[in-house]
Amino acid sequence: MLVFLESHGKELQKGSLGVLAKAASLGDADAVIAGEGANALAAEAGKFGAKKVWICEDGEVAQPLPQPRVDVLAHVVEEGAYDTVLFANSVLAADIAAGLAARLDAGLNWDLVDVELKDGELVGKRPALQDSVYADVGWDGTPRLALFRAGSFDATATGGGEPETTNVSPSYAEHSTAVKLVGQDAEESSGPSIEDADVIVAGGRGLGSPDNFTLAEELAKALGGAVGATRAVVDAGWYPYSAQIGQTGKTVSPKLYVALGISGAIQHKVGMQSSGTIVAINKDANAPIFEFSDLGVVGDVHEIVPKLTELVRARRG
Ligand SMILES: Cc1cc2nc3c(=O)[nH]c(=O)nc-3n(C[C@H](O)[C@H](O)[C@H](O)COP(=O)(O)OP(=O)(O)OC[C@H]3O[C@@H](n4cnc5c(N)ncnc54)[C@H](O)[C@@H]3O)c2cc1C
Repeated sequence: MLVFLESHGKELQKGSLGVLAKAASLGDADAVIAGEGANALAAEAGKFGAKKVWICEDGEVAQPLPQPRVDVLAHVVEEGAYDTVLFANSVLAADIAAGLAARLDAGLNWDLVDVELKDGELVGKRPALQDSVYADVGWDGTPRLALFRAGSFDATATGGGEPETTNVSPSYAEHSTAVKLVGQDAEESSGPSIEDADVIVAGGRGLGSPDNFTLAEELAKALGGAVGATRAVVDAGWYPYSAQIGQTGKTVSPKLYVALGISGAIQHKVGMQSSGTIVAINKDANAPIFEFSDLGVVGDVHEIVPKLTELVRARRG
């Protein structure tokens, strides 16, 4: 198996390391890293189970663009005779996976949350019907491509050793280098992103006003987590879209999800229901969110959250 390891700012993305650790638990797993500083990241890939790391530091992959990486992956798949290529979902990885599927005329299973070997056959698990059931999915032929939902696997170091490394420099198709990135702005943020956070404190309309989002921010800070939001508050301009969780936002699966003043609409639920433990605070005892919470607190967020934050601070301190 080959795993695409996404790197930004000279760091490997946690989600792709999780996919690598999963692949290594199933059999021999190699990795490919394309971008500036890729050589320096190979040893890190070894810790998550990569036996061999293919490295590309060509100028063509200096920018975070998908198409040149399709060329790199197509080259590596052929050189290494891989029959399976795995990706952790992201804006970049989804484009690369789709481009590689087209290039290799290969089948791509999308939005998987797990993969296993059944009688020697690779079987993927995909949520369907708004995540109410799981479907087993397979591939008709090789190479098999798979894209996993964010947070599907823990990025746990497997204790592997120094991997073998091979530098590659494929020939790039003319259309692959036709796009140039003319600018990139990073949104200022502190703390973990909602895709990577182990703890998310999400706020909904029940917070009452944009200013009251400080309640969610303070609690998230005390718990070492990130802040999420419902579409209702994003649409109202209370919080940025990058924090939106749900059908038209991000899908997250932190270990702990705390919902403050969130009703639990199905479109929100599909983005967070695979969280480890769900805690909801809502003043309406009949709010739908209580149907899928592990712990429900019926009460006013304005009274409960400041006390909860104090308590968490005291315990952690
Ligand atoms: C096509 C489509 C896509 C959508 N995509 C998304 C999506 O990606 N993500 C998403 O979140 N939604 C999405 N929605 C919107 C979704 O249907 C809901 O409208 C939205 O999730 C509701 O947000 P909310 O829970 O913040 O607000 P509300 O539904 O208004 O709920 C507010 C809750 O706060 C409680 N409350 C009020 N005051 C307090 C208080 N003082 N203390 C405690 N609790 C209090 C209330 O009891 C209520 O349950 C989508 C809708 C459509 C049609």
